[in-house]
Amino acid sequence: MLRRIAVYCSASDGVPEVYNHAAYRMGQLLAEAGIEVIYGDGGIGLMKHLAEGVLAEGGRITGVIPRFMVEQGWNNPRSTRTIVTGSMHERKAAITEMVDAMVALPGGVGTMEELFECLTWKQLGLHGKPVVIVNTAGYFNPVLTALDKMVSERFMQPVHRNAMFAVVTEPEEVLPAIRQAAEWNEDKRKLARTV
Ligand code: AMP
Repeated sequence: MLRRIAVYCSASDGVPEVYNHAAYRMGQLLAEAGIEVIYGDGGIGLMKHLAEGVLAEGGRITGVIPRFMVEQGWNNPRSTRTIVTGSMHERKAAITEMVDAMVALPGGVGTMEELFECLTWKQLGLHGKPVVIVNTAGYFNPVLTALDKMVSERFMQPVHRNAMFAVVTEPEEVLPAIRQAAEWNEDKRKLARTV
Protein backbone atom coordinates (compact mmCIF):
# COMPACT_ATOMS: atom_id res chain seq x y z
CA MET A 1 0.00 0.00 0.00
CA LEU A 2 1.29 3.44 -0.91
CA ARG A 3 0.87 5.90 1.92
CA ARG A 4 3.60 8.46 1.32
CA ILE A 5 5.64 9.33 -1.75
CA ALA A 6 8.66 11.64 -1.96
CA VAL A 7 8.80 14.06 -4.86
CA TYR A 8 12.17 15.65 -5.62
CA CYS A 9 12.02 18.68 -7.89
CA SER A 10 13.35 22.12 -8.70
CA ALA A 11 13.49 25.13 -6.41
CA SER A 12 13.84 27.52 -9.39
CA ASP A 13 11.22 29.94 -10.64
CA GLY A 14 11.17 31.05 -14.26
CA VAL A 15 11.65 27.63 -15.85
CA PRO A 16 9.52 26.74 -18.93
CA GLU A 17 5.85 26.37 -18.01
CA VAL A 18 5.68 22.76 -19.19
CA TYR A 19 7.65 21.74 -16.09
CA ASN A 20 5.47 23.72 -13.69
CA HIS A 21 2.34 22.16 -15.19
CA ALA A 22 3.73 18.66 -14.77
CA ALA A 23 4.57 19.37 -11.11
CA TYR A 24 1.06 20.69 -10.44
CA ARG A 25 -0.50 17.68 -12.17
CA MET A 26 1.74 15.33 -10.19
CA GLY A 27 0.50 16.91 -6.98
CA GLN A 28 -3.13 16.59 -8.06
CA LEU A 29 -2.77 12.93 -9.00
CA LEU A 30 -1.07 11.93 -5.75
CA ALA A 31 -3.69 13.79 -3.71
CA GLU A 32 -6.52 12.17 -5.68
CA ALA A 33 -4.98 8.79 -4.88
CA GLY A 34 -5.00 9.64 -1.16
CA ILE A 35 -1.21 9.61 -0.96
CA GLU A 36 0.63 12.05 1.30
CA VAL A 37 3.34 13.92 -0.60
CA ILE A 38 6.72 14.44 1.05
CA TYR A 39 8.93 17.14 -0.43
CA GLY A 40 11.61 19.70 0.32
CA ASP A 41 9.15 22.36 1.61
CA GLY A 42 10.23 24.97 -0.91
CA GLY A 43 7.79 27.80 -1.58
CA ILE A 44 9.27 28.39 -5.02
CA GLY A 45 9.86 26.59 -8.29
CA LEU A 46 8.34 23.21 -9.13
CA MET A 47 8.02 22.52 -5.39
CA LYS A 48 5.51 25.37 -5.12
CA HIS A 49 3.47 24.07 -8.09
CA LEU A 50 3.55 20.53 -6.71
CA ALA A 51 2.20 21.78 -3.37
CA GLU A 52 -0.55 23.82 -5.01
CA GLY A 53 -1.63 20.79 -7.05
CA VAL A 54 -1.88 18.68 -3.89
CA LEU A 55 -3.80 21.38 -2.00
CA ALA A 56 -6.19 21.99 -4.91
CA GLU A 57 -7.36 18.38 -4.52
CA GLY A 58 -7.58 18.56 -0.73
CA GLY A 59 -4.50 16.39 -0.22
CA ARG A 60 -1.73 16.39 2.37
CA ILE A 61 1.78 17.64 1.65
CA THR A 62 4.57 17.48 4.20
CA GLY A 63 7.76 19.47 3.84
CA VAL A 64 11.05 18.28 5.30
CA ILE A 65 13.51 21.13 5.49
CA PRO A 66 16.73 21.91 7.34
CA ARG A 67 16.70 24.60 10.00
CA PHE A 68 19.06 26.92 8.14
CA MET A 69 16.56 27.12 5.26
CA VAL A 70 13.69 27.91 7.65
CA GLU A 71 15.84 30.70 9.13
CA GLN A 72 16.13 32.12 5.61
CA GLY A 73 12.33 31.99 5.30
CA TRP A 74 12.53 29.38 2.51
CA ASN A 75 9.92 27.00 3.92
CA ASN A 76 6.48 26.89 2.32
CA PRO A 77 3.78 28.13 4.74
CA ARG A 78 1.22 26.38 2.53
CA SER A 79 2.51 22.93 3.49
CA THR A 80 0.12 20.83 5.56
CA ARG A 81 2.98 19.96 7.90
CA THR A 82 6.63 20.93 8.16
CA ILE A 83 9.36 18.77 9.69
CA VAL A 84 12.54 20.70 10.53
CA THR A 85 15.85 18.82 10.47
CA GLY A 86 19.32 19.77 11.67
CA SER A 87 21.04 19.32 8.33
CA MET A 88 20.62 18.49 4.64
CA HIS A 89 21.84 14.97 5.38
CA GLU A 90 19.21 14.46 8.06
CA ARG A 91 16.58 15.82 5.70
CA LYS A 92 17.38 13.31 2.98
CA ALA A 93 17.62 10.42 5.43
CA ALA A 94 14.27 11.37 7.00
CA ILE A 95 12.56 11.56 3.61
CA THR A 96 14.00 8.20 2.53
CA GLU A 97 12.80 6.63 5.77
CA MET A 98 9.27 8.10 5.63
CA VAL A 99 8.21 7.19 2.12
CA ASP A 100 7.11 4.13 0.17
CA ALA A 101 8.51 5.35 -3.16
CA MET A 102 10.46 8.24 -4.68
CA VAL A 103 9.68 10.36 -7.75
CA ALA A 104 12.04 12.81 -9.46
CA LEU A 105 10.70 15.66 -11.56
CA PRO A 106 13.01 18.05 -13.45
CA GLY A 107 15.37 20.11 -11.34
CA GLY A 108 18.90 21.36 -10.93
CA VAL A 109 21.83 19.97 -8.97
CA GLY A 110 19.77 19.73 -5.77
CA THR A 111 17.23 17.45 -7.41
CA MET A 112 19.97 15.43 -9.14
CA GLU A 113 21.78 14.98 -5.83
CA GLU A 114 18.58 13.72 -4.19
CA LEU A 115 17.85 11.37 -7.11
CA PHE A 116 21.40 10.02 -7.27
CA GLU A 117 21.65 9.51 -3.52
CA CYS A 118 18.41 7.59 -3.68
CA LEU A 119 19.75 5.43 -6.53
CA THR A 120 23.12 4.94 -4.85
CA TRP A 121 21.48 3.73 -1.65
CA LYS A 122 19.22 1.41 -3.62
CA GLN A 123 22.23 0.02 -5.52
CA LEU A 124 23.86 -0.70 -2.16
CA GLY A 125 20.72 -2.42 -0.88
CA LEU A 126 20.10 0.21 1.82
CA HIS A 127 16.51 0.53 0.63
CA GLY A 128 14.41 -1.27 -1.94
CA LYS A 129 11.80 1.38 -2.70
CA PRO A 130 10.53 2.10 -6.22
CA VAL A 131 12.09 5.13 -7.95
CA VAL A 132 10.43 6.86 -10.91
CA ILE A 133 11.89 9.61 -13.08
CA VAL A 134 9.36 11.84 -14.84
CA ASN A 135 11.08 12.77 -18.07
CA THR A 136 8.96 15.82 -18.87
CA ALA A 137 9.76 17.15 -22.36
CA GLY A 138 12.86 14.93 -22.46
CA TYR A 139 14.51 16.90 -19.65
CA PHE A 140 16.36 13.85 -18.28
CA ASN A 141 17.59 12.56 -21.67
CA PRO A 142 21.21 13.73 -21.14
CA VAL A 143 21.21 12.11 -17.68
CA LEU A 144 19.92 8.83 -19.12
CA THR A 145 22.58 8.99 -21.83
CA ALA A 146 25.24 9.42 -19.13
CA LEU A 147 23.89 6.35 -17.32
CA ASP A 148 24.01 4.37 -20.59
CA LYS A 149 27.67 5.31 -20.97
CA MET A 150 28.34 4.15 -17.41
CA VAL A 151 26.92 0.76 -18.42
CA SER A 152 28.63 0.51 -21.83
CA GLU A 153 32.00 1.32 -20.24
CA ARG A 154 31.28 -1.00 -17.29
CA PHE A 155 31.11 1.60 -14.55
CA MET A 156 27.57 0.43 -13.79
CA GLN A 157 25.84 -2.93 -14.02
CA PRO A 158 23.04 -3.34 -16.57
CA VAL A 159 20.70 -4.62 -13.83
CA HIS A 160 21.13 -1.34 -11.95
CA ARG A 161 20.42 0.68 -15.08
CA ASN A 162 17.46 -1.44 -16.13
CA ALA A 163 15.67 -2.51 -12.97
CA MET A 164 16.45 0.05 -10.29
CA PHE A 165 14.26 2.87 -11.62
CA ALA A 166 11.52 3.52 -14.16
CA VAL A 167 11.34 6.41 -16.59
CA VAL A 168 7.97 7.79 -17.61
CA THR A 169 6.90 10.78 -19.65
CA GLU A 170 3.67 11.89 -17.98
CA PRO A 171 2.65 12.26 -14.32
CA GLU A 172 -0.31 9.93 -15.06
CA GLU A 173 2.18 7.09 -15.59
CA VAL A 174 3.88 7.45 -12.20
CA LEU A 175 1.56 5.45 -9.95
CA PRO A 176 1.24 2.52 -12.42
CA ALA A 177 5.05 2.49 -12.73
CA ILE A 178 5.46 2.40 -8.94
CA ARG A 179 2.95 -0.44 -8.66
CA GLN A 180 4.75 -2.44 -11.36
CA ALA A 181 8.27 -1.70 -10.11
CA ALA A 182 10.64 -4.64 -10.03
CA GLU A 183 11.04 -6.05 -6.55
CA TRP A 184 14.36 -5.00 -5.07
CA ASN A 185 15.62 -7.08 -2.19
CA GLU A 186 18.73 -7.75 -0.18
CA ASP A 187 20.13 -10.03 -2.89
CA LYS A 188 20.64 -6.98 -5.05
CA ARG A 189 23.23 -5.80 -2.55
CA LYS A 190 25.40 -8.70 -3.60
CA LEU A 191 25.15 -7.50 -7.18
CA ALA A 192 26.69 -4.19 -6.14
CA ARG A 193 29.87 -6.06 -5.29
CA THR A 194 30.25 -8.04 -8.50
CA VAL A 195 31.01 -5.30 -11.03
P1 AMP B 1 17.40 22.34 -7.40
O1 AMP B 1 16.97 21.07 -8.06
O2 AMP B 1 18.85 22.62 -7.57
O3 AMP B 1 16.51 23.48 -7.69
O4 AMP B 1 17.30 22.07 -5.86
C1 AMP B 1 16.16 21.55 -5.27
C2 AMP B 1 16.56 21.22 -3.87
O5 AMP B 1 17.38 22.30 -3.41
C3 AMP B 1 15.50 21.14 -2.84
O6 AMP B 1 14.92 19.88 -2.71
C4 AMP B 1 16.27 21.55 -1.64
O7 AMP B 1 17.15 20.53 -1.24
C5 AMP B 1 17.09 22.66 -2.09
N1 AMP B 1 16.53 24.01 -2.05
C6 AMP B 1 17.03 25.03 -2.73
N2 AMP B 1 16.35 26.16 -2.50
C7 AMP B 1 15.35 25.82 -1.69
C8 AMP B 1 14.28 26.55 -1.10
N3 AMP B 1 14.09 27.83 -1.35
N4 AMP B 1 13.45 25.88 -0.29
C9 AMP B 1 13.64 24.58 -0.05
N5 AMP B 1 14.59 23.84 -0.59
C10 AMP B 1 15.45 24.45 -1.40
